[in-house]
Amino acid sequence: MDPSHLKTCVLVVLDGMADLEIPAMDGKTPVEAARTPILDLFAKEGKVGYMHSIGYWKVGGSDTSHMALLGYDPWSIYTGRGPIEVAGTGVNLQEGDVSIRCNYCTVGDGMHILDRTAGYVRDGIEELANAINDGVHLSDPSVKAEFRNSQDYRCVVYFRGPGISASISDMDPSYDIIIDAPMERDKVKENPRIIDCKPRDNSKEAIHMAELLNEWVEKSHDILKKHPVNKRREEQGKPPANCIMPRGAGETPMYEPFHEKWHLKGACVAGTGLIKGLGNLMGMRTPDVPGATGYVDSDLLSKARVTVELLEEGMEFILVHVESIDEVSHDGNVKLKIEMLEKGDEMLEYIAEHVPDNTIICVLSDHTTSCEKGDHTADPSPLVIWSKDSSIQGDGLQKFSEHHAYKGSLKHVEGKDLMPILLNFMNRHEQFGA
Ligand SMILES: [Zn+2]
Repeated sequence: MDPSHLKTCVLVVLDGMADLEIPAMDGKTPVEAARTPILDLFAKEGKVGYMHSIGYWKVGGSDTSHMALLGYDPWSIYTGRGPIEVAGTGVNLQEGDVSIRCNYCTVGDGMHILDRTAGYVRDGIEELANAINDGVHLSDPSVKAEFRNSQDYRCVVYFRGPGISASISDMDPSYDIIIDAPMERDKVKENPRIIDCKPRDNSKEAIHMAELLNEWVEKSHDILKKHPVNKRREEQGKPPANCIMPRGAGETPMYEPFHEKWHLKGACVAGTGLIKGLGNLMGMRTPDVPGATGYVDSDLLSKARVTVELLEEGMEFILVHVESIDEVSHDGNVKLKIEMLEKGDEMLEYIAEHVPDNTIICVLSDHTTSCEKGDHTADPSPLVIWSKDSSIQGDGLQKFSEHHAYKGSLKHVEGKDLMPILLNFMNRHEQFGA
């Protein structure tokens, strides 16, 4: 293939963009109710289809869905969210590390949980994290624990050293509790408290890891409850961030680097730790994007500018992720979802205008997130692929939407098909057979 024909790709994931018909809006979906001139133009000039990311009518999380979209099989390589979140804070994880997601929370006597997010704590968390890292010394000095803040009340810890395993239970009662008696489990749900970590198997590594995590939580609690930041919070009538609540332990997954797998220089433009972490674990470039927060206040045009810069620097495949649309869908906020979709469309306008002519842009949603249900669903979500130089023949659709997607020429697509389709339109496909 003549290298001048090779194209680059911007894959824009509007997280949770797809939705169901909303009766109060005459059966329109938020995408149909939103003003999205660029998406509509793409649907006219590009190819459209509808997608199930992780498999036919299967409900994906954002992490597993993104893995599938990038051509990795989540069913065989997913080791939980913990390591992805840790990698999202910039840690270069090693094989054998045990990574765990956590919340800052407020506990009272007997470790009873008074506030799961410590009042959405944001201020002073750097000081708290430093105090934990400086002050907690584990009884096994060969194992090192490093704690890091992620986003607001969300935080992570990873353990590195010999003789540990991720086969341990959660300490957060909302999640996977290991308590034998169902009655006991109901009691804990009614009156939640931090639960002791237990090994999930009889290995000495799991037993040791459970002991170390319990010890770490206890010692952190001792430091946090006396910390001046928390004394100040109490004086101001705010819930103190006096405890760390862990869940979702996982071992470091060893992914084939994106560049080796697809022969593309890849980058990941995201504000959310989870997606940045995936990019990091796949060896993609994950620049810090000024103003990208993963929330409704995220600066999407800043993401667009960074995307254009990355292409100028020679990147060939850029994943751009917009989290806020999913967040507001989980909150059931249709009005804000429509607003965020329109903001997303403005971001697309900037990207389409400023990328070089040899760029294709693919826009999709990693899964459907229903505002009415407040959760992900298995319904297929629309996707579109557009080329700036009109090398892709358009489907001529009038609108980009869940309903129009069924009329597109790409038909039904699964996540694992996406990279081969994109490589095809990038003129980078390889022939199989003679
Ligand atoms: Zn998602």
